[in-house]
Amino acid sequence: MGISKENRIWPRWASTVGIMREEEITVHAFCTNWQVTLTVDLDLLCAIQGQSFTLIDRSGRCKVVGCQGRTFFLAIRERSGVPAMRLTSRSKLNYLL
Ligand SMILES: [Zn+2]
Repeated sequence: MGISKENRIWPRWASTVGIMREEEITVHAFCTNWQVTLTVDLDLLCAIQGQSFTLIDRSGRCKVVGCQGRTFFLAIRERSGVPAMRLTSRSKLNYLL
């Protein structure tokens, strides 16, 4: 018996937009349609959705003009040495792709 990826435990620093802002995490929205990456404005997101809002397993509409694609989110924690962490579990990602 292995640990299901669906039950993965997300790191605390990625749990909410408020914490990611405090931790100075860079968040990118990656569009599965045109394969473009946009930077997410965490200040704006905190103001609109509140600090406890989460991007984990959430998708959004692509903000590129003319694109009908969906996006998922990537968190980049500079000091971790890890280039980027996908905030989407495998099953959700398969749904988007
Ligand atoms: Zn797009």
